[in-house]
Amino acid sequence: MADQLPERLEGVKTETIETDLLIIGGGNAGCFSAIEAKKLNPDVKVTIMEKAHISRSGACSAGMDAINTYIPEGKTPEDLVRWCRDQVGGGPLREDLTLSNAQELNEAVDDLESWGLPIVRDEDDQIQYRGGWDISIHGEQLKPIMAEKAMEYGADVYNRIVATSLLMDGDQCVGAMGFGVRDGKFYVFKAKATIVATGGACGLYKSYTSDSRDSHHQTWMCPFNVGTGYAIGIREGAEFTSMEQRWVATRSKDFCGPIDTISVGYKSNIINAKGEKILEERYAHLGGDTAPRYIRANAPMEEWLEGRGPTYADTTHLGAKEVKDLKVDYLNERPSFVLYLASRGQDITKEPIEIYGSDPYIVGGHTGSGYWVDMERMTTVPGLFAAGETAGGNPNKFVGGCAAEGKLATRGALKHIESLKLPALDNDQVEQEKKRVFSPLFKGEGFDGVSAREMEERMQRLMDEYAGGTSQFYRTNEERLEYALKHLKMLKKQIDFLYAEDLHDLMLVHEVVDRLDVAEVVCHHLKSRKETRWQGWQTRSDYPETDPEFNCFVESRLNKETGEIETFTRPYEQLVPGDSN
Ligand SMILES: Cc1cc2nc3c(=O)[nH]c(=O)nc-3n(C[C@H](O)[C@H](O)[C@H](O)COP(=O)(O)OP(=O)(O)OC[C@H]3O[C@@H](n4cnc5c(N)ncnc54)[C@H](O)[C@@H]3O)c2cc1C
Repeated sequence: MADQLPERLEGVKTETIETDLLIIGGGNAGCFSAIEAKKLNPDVKVTIMEKAHISRSGACSAGMDAINTYIPEGKTPEDLVRWCRDQVGGGPLREDLTLSNAQELNEAVDDLESWGLPIVRDEDDQIQYRGGWDISIHGEQLKPIMAEKAMEYGADVYNRIVATSLLMDGDQCVGAMGFGVRDGKFYVFKAKATIVATGGACGLYKSYTSDSRDSHHQTWMCPFNVGTGYAIGIREGAEFTSMEQRWVATRSKDFCGPIDTISVGYKSNIINAKGEKILEERYAHLGGDTAPRYIRANAPMEEWLEGRGPTYADTTHLGAKEVKDLKVDYLNERPSFVLYLASRGQDITKEPIEIYGSDPYIVGGHTGSGYWVDMERMTTVPGLFAAGETAGGNPNKFVGGCAAEGKLATRGALKHIESLKLPALDNDQVEQEKKRVFSPLFKGEGFDGVSAREMEERMQRLMDEYAGGTSQFYRTNEERLEYALKHLKMLKKQIDFLYAEDLHDLMLVHEVVDRLDVAEVVCHHLKSRKETRWQGWQTRSDYPETDPEFNCFVESRLNKETGEIETFTRPYEQLVPGDSN
């Protein structure tokens, strides 16, 4: 790789591409966006800018064993909105967005099946539900299936290009810029409309497995989704919503393997060290096994805190066939978990699977965090649309909902470009970004700076200890958040000292720079919500109760003049009447 590196910034080649619709991130939502654009107008030029390779990138890269939302016969999109509301503890959520997504949901999943995704059906050819809304699939090939369709429909795909910033014409987004992690070129994509679909943000917080010898650390999320899609909008002053609503998941201890597969799919109880069924014993008043998602995620950690850990997904009731089926499910989603169990010689019918809370993530396909968007999925930056994990206010999207939202964002984007002409390229902006992106590579021999890894470790520990990470059982308070914000600012002052030895290192440098921006916004949101609304996802030890005053959205935006993040609120409006049952 090193021999491709030019010796000086002036040697870096720039490639400029003009397109109608630019999609940053060819993941789940991105592929569906591209396909929808080509279906609606085969003449429209669609370009995907992808950090990895779209055949195996993003959240679906290792496969899935379920699609978490598919509306069953007899239920309506409105029912799904009510369920989503319950899962985030009664709101706030954008019911307008959630409903429009729900109306598109089944069609997107049906598309996947028609393209070759095996959905598990019973002997009467009926789709098999494993819970109230989620269906079983053999999804090891899920991502290649989506990617192949996007290419088949004629999207131009630029793989291994890391987006680093938006291309702006005044306040209007007219594309994006980034660099080739393999070819070392600087890329400028001019576009009439841009959809940001870069997935969520992981690695903001220290993982409790970061002392692992074999890997950097275990993470549940795709480790390359680091929040760049949020960061590029934060820097342009876009409005963000609900960034305090972090996603914390219950995962297998020390491995971050999925647990819904066992608890929902195989009806395993979540138990504590005494063998008590935690949800039934302590959360019956909130629905027990069907309590809101954050309660279920946080409950095992509360047991630890109360001295009743370790906690387990009880697999001891399973028979030989079920164990085999369970392993097949894992082979569809997280094959390495089967190896992990084998390497431990663990017979799960005798020894249950130990569970623990993950580090917190920002994922707007799961919770409500992300860009504030209108019904067309346009952000507050004209010309910039968001879909999937990047779009906020609309939780519980998962695979089907992210796909549906990709389609919706494309429809909005195509309307936007109808009468639009692209401005001339702003060369100053391009040169400035090129310098910012590549300068860590050209610090000169013997430069005594900061490596991406060092910066990352400092940031992750800071977030973990002060902004409610796993080691603190997700709790934080005003003073700790102030400390975190002060020290994040100090870290940001060190950005000029970051250096990279090769292009991969350069990617790591920009990942940590982006994470710092996202982390700062998360802390501001956590600080602004002066109550505890979603224990675990958002726990304030100094405001332990829910406050009705905060049944609203916490919003933020960078004031580009002062360089400070400003927060404010927006009211929550319940549009769909009634509760779920
Ligand atoms: C491990 C795991 C298991 C899950 N299990 C299920 C399940 O069983 N059922 C279910 O319904 N849902 C599940 N989900 C949720 C679901 O997969 C996601 O919500 C959804 O796929 C996200 O889609 P997305 O398009 O927003 O993001 P992704 O599909 O992650 O796409 C993001 C894309 O952006 C690219 N990218 C990132 N940064 C850049 C950059 N700087 N420049 C260019 N490209 C970039 C990435 O490489 C990726 O291709 C799971 C998620 C995870 C992580």
